[in-house]
Amino acid sequence: MTAAPEAVELGRGRLTVRWPDAVVEWPASRLRAACRCGDCRSLRLAGRAPTGEGAELAGAEPVGQYALQLVFRDGHDRGIYPWELLRAG
Ligand SMILES: [Zn+2]
Repeated sequence: MTAAPEAVELGRGRLTVRWPDAVVEWPASRLRAACRCGDCRSLRLAGRAPTGEGAELAGAEPVGQYALQLVFRDGHDRGIYPWELLRAG
């Protein structure tokens, strides 16, 4: 299991995740496109995966010890991003 990062910096257009040995920058659009929530999975299966184009971040909350929940400005707030995924960049 991937331990939590040292810090997470939320910007409108990107998320910066600081690990002991690396800094990973995630554009908001990539995070939105990578959303694993039930709605986005269904859309993906239907061939209508979110592109993430124009996505902006509005908030971030830790989920237990294993993940980060992200809120986007379009109101989408169901995405849970495991540290393992955010580590990979
Ligand atoms: Zn989603």
